[in-house]
Amino acid sequence: MFSTWRHLDLRPSGRKRRVVSILALAALLMAGVVGFRSLAMERGALAAADAASRGSEVDEGMAEYVIYINWDAFRRDYYDWANDEGAPGTPNLNYLASRGALFTSAHNGFPGITNPMQTSIVTGAWPAVHGNVYRYYDVSENIVRGTGRTCEAETIAEVAAASGLSTASVQQFMLLGRGTADNDPMHLYIQPGVRFEERVVEAVKIIRNEPVRTQTGAMVSSVEIPRFLAIYGDDLDAAGHNATSAYGTPIALTFDEWKAKMVKEVVRMDAALSPLMDALREAEIMDRTAIILTADHGMTPYTGQSSLSDLIRVFQGLGYKSKALYSDQKAPEGVDVVLVGTGISVQVYFRRTLGPDEYRKVVETISAQPYVGGCLTREDLDAMGAHSRSGDLAVWSNPPSHFAYRNVAFGVGGNHDTCHPSSRNVFLLVSGAGVQHGVVVDDPVEIIDVAPTISRLLGIRPPAQATGRVLEEALLPAAVLVR
Ligand SMILES: [Zn+2]
Repeated sequence: MFSTWRHLDLRPSGRKRRVVSILALAALLMAGVVGFRSLAMERGALAAADAASRGSEVDEGMAEYVIYINWDAFRRDYYDWANDEGAPGTPNLNYLASRGALFTSAHNGFPGITNPMQTSIVTGAWPAVHGNVYRYYDVSENIVRGTGRTCEAETIAEVAAASGLSTASVQQFMLLGRGTADNDPMHLYIQPGVRFEERVVEAVKIIRNEPVRTQTGAMVSSVEIPRFLAIYGDDLDAAGHNATSAYGTPIALTFDEWKAKMVKEVVRMDAALSPLMDALREAEIMDRTAIILTADHGMTPYTGQSSLSDLIRVFQGLGYKSKALYSDQKAPEGVDVVLVGTGISVQVYFRRTLGPDEYRKVVETISAQPYVGGCLTREDLDAMGAHSRSGDLAVWSNPPSHFAYRNVAFGVGGNHDTCHPSSRNVFLLVSGAGVQHGVVVDDPVEIIDVAPTISRLLGIRPPAQATGRVLEEALLPAAVLVR
């Protein structure tokens, strides 16, 4: 289907690598590598053999520079839609895919909401570790609270900075004060707002060591091309929610209009990558740069009446007095079950302990409702790395049904706090220096694998609490590189 980028580029990378020995290479080739398509393996072997023949020039890590781009809410199949027969296509993403690995089954965790998942990507850990859960009911204090920008784990930018590398962040807010800072020319943070293409303009200035305006109003130049540069764009999120005409996109009134709008947005975002890649070429670092593009969650369209009151009725039918609470609200006396909406899904908190049979009956009854997409038991939540604060049970809707606090009487809404694949399956591309060319990985991977992979590319340690793994199947064989 994607013939444009399935074509393999067999030219060796311009990057020079020190080679341990031909013996190590031979051992590697004999050991074989599994989990990705074989043409790419041949290409990697070719590149390694080429490096071996060139001899012993030195570089630490596999990429001198890493650019981490996050397109908030880049649902995985937006990319497919934009590249369908007759669709405009995404030449820049396709080019990066031809020089890298595209993951077709990358997933986020729980809850699939911006701050927790952005935190997971930069720390390589799930909310159970970093503590950012978005919203929760504090049972002991009897109040609904938010976690804001809580991050109780080390970020990849902090590791880079601690390793002596320069860092910068263009609006990747989870790195503000966490490996990048206002007015620090070695670890620069800026927050220009505006659309992605305008953020790229600022990123290009940073790459050129030109002054950029920081949040304090000061003009600051980066001391060098940042070894780790994060660029964050939330255009797709704003357009996908379809609640306002954010960033100038119109509100879609039907699913087809919404889909067409999202394709148009992805194509625009793709075009915005051109000046960035031009800047890398101009600085002569394109061959020494790895680019990772991913997202925190996808987007699930929904419409019609909210099923929240139906869900409350089911609890009442089972004999529980239940109540949906909003932020900062308290449960009245006598309430057994608190429901906390996070958008279109609901987190459930029992204010008294349920026996296993009682709990099972609740799960079975709720799962049988036609508007329910599924339930996550506490065991499921634990397996996904969800924090204990996320509740005793989570219920997600069967789209277009939803548990939002408001009905959608007219048009389409979009949200992503659900386990529906449209929200859980995110775009993930790893491309450039140190990466196999033209690889498509269909095996499941997780967004917490991004930070450890960046660490491997830069030759630094992973974030201290990271539980994700290095995406070895995307990378050139490390055994031929001196670490
Ligand atoms: Zn988001």
